Amino acid sequence: MSAIVFTNVHLFDGSGAPRFAGELRVQDNTIVELARGGQQVGRGDARLIDGQGGTLMPGLTDVHAHLALGSTVEQINKPGDRNDAQTALLIAHCGRVMLDHGFTSAYSGGSGSMLAEVAARQAFDAGWVPGPRLRTSSFERVPGGPMGLQTRFPGRAVREPQPAEVAAFVAEAAAAGVDAVKFLLNGVSAFDAGSNQGEQFHEAEIAAAADMARRKHVWLTAHCYTAESIRMAVHHGFRVLYHCTYADEAALDAMEQHKDRLFVGLAPGIVEADLLRGPSFGVMASEADRREQADAAERIRWVGRELRRRGIRNLPGGDYGFPWNPVGGNARDLALFVEWFGHTPAEVLHAATALGGEVLAMPERLGRLANGYLADLLLVDGDPTADIGLLGKRDKLRVIMKDGRLHRCTL
Ligand SMILES: [Zn+2]
Repeated sequence: MSAIVFTNVHLFDGSGAPRFAGELRVQDNTIVELARGGQQVGRGDARLIDGQGGTLMPGLTDVHAHLALGSTVEQINKPGDRNDAQTALLIAHCGRVMLDHGFTSAYSGGSGSMLAEVAARQAFDAGWVPGPRLRTSSFERVPGGPMGLQTRFPGRAVREPQPAEVAAFVAEAAAAGVDAVKFLLNGVSAFDAGSNQGEQFHEAEIAAAADMARRKHVWLTAHCYTAESIRMAVHHGFRVLYHCTYADEAALDAMEQHKDRLFVGLAPGIVEADLLRGPSFGVMASEADRREQADAAERIRWVGRELRRRGIRNLPGGDYGFPWNPVGGNARDLALFVEWFGHTPAEVLHAATALGGEVLAMPERLGRLANGYLADLLLVDGDPTADIGLLGKRDKLRVIMKDGRLHRCTL
């Protein structure tokens, strides 16, 4: 690789500060120079790209990605039993679509194949398969059950605690090379009506999992809806909390107390998709389901506003990958942060870039435009700090660069 210089651009550096006119130079896979106003960066033999006044910004991160579920805006693949090879192909397909839509990083919300997830991460990193930087994750395994997304959720009331078995699964996942293990502390109402509000795991199991995760240096991610599950996840040191729909004041207080280590992904995209498109795919279709979802949409608006008020990190990422919420629509979450949670566009862009670098565990290297940061870049036709919806329009993404490689350039 060599050098590329972007001229005639407005730079949004990821901090949340307003854009400024300037230039930026990339050498190999790294940002090496920025200039403001009429200043110029070094040219040398660099390729020049005239940004035509557009916005150059860090690539986007999705905090709740399900590449292995397999549905994209190009191809709907219904969830089902798949082997590792089939899953690897789905992840490769979804990864390419995600990158096509400006998402250069993804924190995985879980996969049915640890082998495929880790192999995809290696191929994406090496650059011979197009896809985002991926922080990989396994799904949990409920004692006595299979690994992966289940469609019937055995609540903790109907089984004995088995902490050793749960801890052993965390060790197995760490040995397989995943970065995180996702626990569905509550069920999934889309598959098992009402199960969002039932707890799956005993506290002793979660304590044992957390202890093992610390020893093996993997993160724990919680799919949690109820205040009780949020309390458990925060108390036991989970790093990423999804959904949090039924958070109450006490749960929010606990989150706020530990906000330096917590990342939240409320995933408004899936809530909207369940309401708008679920029934046409045969999920969330009953009258009771509809009421539950409408109520969830109301609650999550309040939770999102509370997170913002309390300064708790909340990142876009809306469970994309299901047939009714396909990968490629990921930018819809950014707009929902504005519409539902009251963020300014600049705040959302900060969350999707700089905070993305933090949740990818590379805060000093990823998610900002600054010297020494990795060259994961988007050049947007227009000003997304004024119109967040631009990021959902693929033809407005004039340049997509990941790791210094031009994945797309229409200038
Ligand atoms: Zn999910």
